Amino acid sequence: MFRSRGSKTATTEEAPREVALSEDEWRSRLTPEQYRVLRKAGTEPAFSGKYLECHLDGTYCCAGCGARLFSSDAKFDSGSGWPSFAEPTLASAVELHRDRSFGMERTEVLCRSCGSHLGHVFDDGPRPTGQRYCINSLSLRIDTGQS
Ligand code: FE
Repeated sequence: MFRSRGSKTATTEEAPREVALSEDEWRSRLTPEQYRVLRKAGTEPAFSGKYLECHLDGTYCCAGCGARLFSSDAKFDSGSGWPSFAEPTLASAVELHRDRSFGMERTEVLCRSCGSHLGHVFDDGPRPTGQRYCINSLSLRIDTGQS
C-alpha cells in the first residue's frame, strides 16, 4: 500500500509468501545476475537493463515467481537509467520496506508473492501518483500476451 499524492511513501508489512523456495532452488531458477539482484538486493548498473528502452505493450512480471507487477501503461522515462513505473498493477502486488543501507533512507520494493527484491520507490514521480518505482530489469520479465 502507498498513500497517494504529496505524502511520504508508507511501508507495508511483510506478508506470508505464496512462493517460498530454498536458496538452492532460487540459485537453480535464476541466472547468477538475477540471483544477486532478486535474492541479495543487488542493483544492476544504470543504463544496462534490457527493459530500460522497452516500449512494448504488456505486463511486467516478477522474474522470480511470475507475479504480475507493473503495466507498460505505467512505465515512463525517468532518465534514471532504470525502468520506471508510476504505480504497480495493484498496490498489493508489492511490499515496501524501509531501507537504510549505504547511508541512505530509501524505500525498498519487493514482490509480495515471493519476497524478491525489485528496486526502490521514490516520491518524485509524475502526477497523479507522484511515485517513481525504480525497478531493475533483471527483476522483471515482460508478458506481451503472445507466446
Ligand atoms: Fe515474485
